[in-house]
Amino acid sequence: MRQSHLFTIPRKESPKDEESLNAKLLIRAGYIHKEMAGVYSYLPLGRRVLEKVMGIIREEMNGIGGQEVSMAALQNPEAWKFTGRFDEGVVDVWFKTRLKNDTELGLAFTHEEPMTAMMRPFIRSYRDLPRAVYQFQTKFRNETRAKSGIMRGREFIMKDLYSFSRSQSDLDMFYDEVALAYDRIFARVGIGERTYKTFASGGVFSKYSHEYQTVCDAGEDTIYIDEESRIAINKEVHTDEVIADLRLDVSKLVEKKSIEVGNIFKLGTKFSEPLNLTYKDEEGAMLPVVMGSYGIGPGRLMGTVVELFSDERGLVWPESIAPFQVHLLSLGADEQAEALYRLLSEAEIEVLYDDRDMRAGEKFAEADLLGLPYRVVVGKKSIETGMAEVKARANTDIEMVSLEDMASFFSARRPRGEKN
Ligand code: ATP
Ligand code: MG
Repeated sequence: MRQSHLFTIPRKESPKDEESLNAKLLIRAGYIHKEMAGVYSYLPLGRRVLEKVMGIIREEMNGIGGQEVSMAALQNPEAWKFTGRFDEGVVDVWFKTRLKNDTELGLAFTHEEPMTAMMRPFIRSYRDLPRAVYQFQTKFRNETRAKSGIMRGREFIMKDLYSFSRSQSDLDMFYDEVALAYDRIFARVGIGERTYKTFASGGVFSKYSHEYQTVCDAGEDTIYIDEESRIAINKEVHTDEVIADLRLDVSKLVEKKSIEVGNIFKLGTKFSEPLNLTYKDEEGAMLPVVMGSYGIGPGRLMGTVVELFSDERGLVWPESIAPFQVHLLSLGADEQAEALYRLLSEAEIEVLYDDRDMRAGEKFAEADLLGLPYRVVVGKKSIETGMAEVKARANTDIEMVSLEDMASFFSARRPRGEKN
């Protein structure tokens, strides 16, 4: 993409009305636009990052047999009456609205009830199980504190997966598969080493649920980590019982601030029983389906990456989720830069091409702010030498690469999992 064509313009200054680093930087660099507190629009660059994050999650969800759907954001209270969750005062973050005829509707804050109801006609016998269904869908939550930028929105996209099994042991097996898929997702996004599968409360049919907590000072959560075993527990469950259950040595636990990037829950029959989602087993008995639910916030994940990797010059994207892999800068060598842009595009390398007429210093500062993994500078010297400087954003690596080898240079570095 040509930068002269991109409608967003980076700002010199950070917005004054943001506290979080992720919102400050993403707004400054033109990745997101603030509508109001806790509500953000994604601009072309930001949307590309979000799509990449969702692409990685999608591959991993499909890899464990997930089938993607897209459920409605306006919710019928009917399904929620079975669990009592629509009742006044039960869910404090719920935005509700009314039709003109006074019928109440809910704005999706989660999907257990509608998902369970939706699956009823499709799960009849044990032959229809197991199933795993997921979506990327907008959730609305009346969060009281919305000071963490895109990490805590009042409107945000959630990846929510729901599993349907015949038995607790089948659920246990699938739960462990999801856990491994989550490990892969967080590793691919570049935060694997800092992300801990953390014991938390809230499992309905199990003693604990698990949260995926990424160690970061900007986090709203507190966890205790045993580095040796890589076991972590949320502060909220830090009791003598948990310590004993997990055979942890209290003196070895280190307290850290962290961000909950995802979680996994065994729901058991909490929803299938009241909503009557049943199946016929081999003997003809009707049994409630055993469920699990598994969330990840792609926007929160993106915000976490910003919090962790950016520096004083701006954003720093891991290659796997960068909006473009290469930032091509022309410094008075437009003809050569144009040719290189064409070459890279033909090789399906994702390039943002700064074809604007601006001072070198300004172009460099903007490139740093935007944070693409590689900056390629085609200058006057390139005309003589046929070479261009390739500089990594995340470290101090600089290489001279010939213009004709550039496409294969970047093809070899293409992030894993990318289709073309
Ligand atoms: P938290 O305790 O941080 O409020 P939660 O327990 O409410 O999170 P879930 O309802 O289980 O989270 O949502 C699943 C995932 O969605 C979370 O792990 C997180 O990654 C993401 N998420 C939750 N709330 C938000 C939000 N307000 N903005 C962005 N992402 C969110
Ligand atoms: Mg919450």
